Amino acid sequence: MEPLAKTGGLADVIGVLPRKLNEIGCDVRVILPYYKETRKNLKRLKLKVKDLNRDVIVTIDWLPYKGRIKETTVEGVKVYLLAHDGFYDRDHLYTAANGDYKDNDLRFGFFSLGALEIAKALDFRPDIIHCNDWQTALTPIALKWKRHYNNDPFFKNSEVVFTIHNISYQGIFGKDLLDKFGLSGALFNPEQLEFYGRVNLLKGGILTSDLVTTVSPTYAREIQTKEYGYGLDGVLRAVAHAGKLAGILNGIDDEDWNPETDKALYARYNAADLEGKYENKAKLKNLLGFSTNGHVPLIGVISRLAHQKGIDLIVRALHRILDLGAELVILGAGDKGYERLLKQVSDDYVDNFRAVIGYNESKARRIYAGSDMFLMPSRFEPCGLGQLIALRYGTVPVVRATGGLLDTITDYDEGREHANGFIFDHFTEQSMLNTIERAISIYHNPPEWKRLIQNAMEQDFSWKRSSREYLAYYKGLSPEG
Ligand code: ADP
Repeated sequence: MEPLAKTGGLADVIGVLPRKLNEIGCDVRVILPYYKETRKNLKRLKLKVKDLNRDVIVTIDWLPYKGRIKETTVEGVKVYLLAHDGFYDRDHLYTAANGDYKDNDLRFGFFSLGALEIAKALDFRPDIIHCNDWQTALTPIALKWKRHYNNDPFFKNSEVVFTIHNISYQGIFGKDLLDKFGLSGALFNPEQLEFYGRVNLLKGGILTSDLVTTVSPTYAREIQTKEYGYGLDGVLRAVAHAGKLAGILNGIDDEDWNPETDKALYARYNAADLEGKYENKAKLKNLLGFSTNGHVPLIGVISRLAHQKGIDLIVRALHRILDLGAELVILGAGDKGYERLLKQVSDDYVDNFRAVIGYNESKARRIYAGSDMFLMPSRFEPCGLGQLIALRYGTVPVVRATGGLLDTITDYDEGREHANGFIFDHFTEQSMLNTIERAISIYHNPPEWKRLIQNAMEQDFSWKRSSREYLAYYKGLSPEG
């Protein structure tokens, strides 16, 4: 949950959606692990944390594990933090330098069951329990398949919504997970928790929830195919067939992401007056040490460095992109292999390419504002927030035709009146290059380019619409509507 803990888009969603739901009449409480990062952020933001003087106990492998409930409020949203230093007082959320933490099953199993215990300890009876990604899957699994929870009157009227933010992360563990969490060995079959000889938590979450959602309509269709389903396409086809799968597009926080008020920028601007945008570009180029003069498009990339994001495609095509007469800046962190590779190639260029390694929000904001185009050549993209932020900052997205990118970007060739970007179909260098070339040719036609920028900035991908959609689904599930 932004600003308490973040690795990617999920944090942005939880940072806004609960607040927007509260604004339209819900009473949302967020439950988060009390990560080290969370503690630091609370301190930095001077947010008060209250110890509720309450413990919860979760039994794992016959041993009682005790967690402490703390409470804070973020922009009016009540957040319960489940504290357990052994599990969460670590430098990263999920993955250290040498790979995923080995005890992630315990860490997130404890969290999933601990969340139910928190609801009980505080006597908060939720109509809807909204779970996100595999880390929370043991919540619905326990409510359906674990003795003690499956007939617990406390949760009698609770329905579970499960959102898949990215199906490539599934939480796959050994069979002994069942024992550890007191689940029956009979669940180890392909119709339930078994997945090629192991236990797949995401699969269990999907099967035991009352409604499964994902973060764009196109991604909801794609994950039902072999190409995008990461082995769960069959399960999702069945869920869709039962009418229990929905795609709801994410939004962005349009107050937080606003070039008119963004304090990180060198200058502020809006659709009617783009002077500030050009100033941001000039300053950014200066900072990056780019020496090219004249009317040259600056392409920005801000991304987790992961296979999904197509960073390899950019690196392979880099020389040819620059040869098209463009400059490129990449801000990213993640996979160490990509970080090394990008640093290496960055040294080969001085004038027109720079890789900035690290996670840095103010740099990100300056790149969103100072670039002319925003490149997202994703292999798959559940929703994608980068292109939505880019639109808001008048930076024209050049994206691959997949997932939420397809639901939010309209290609220039589809109709100049409505276009807000450029789309390429195939995950190949050539397909990407052809489209970048197309974008560059429009860039050199200033009135057309300006129209694109204005179309981009006029789009409304705020949370207002999405939060209403979520609420409609919640109401559809809840017995009292
Ligand atoms: P994902 O969740 O798959 O990483 P999204 O596009 O949905 O991708 O969300 C990514 C979010 O993280 C955006 O808000 C983007 O601006 C931000 N982001 C990604 N990498 C960086 C970085 N290196 N520095 C700052 N912000 C970043």
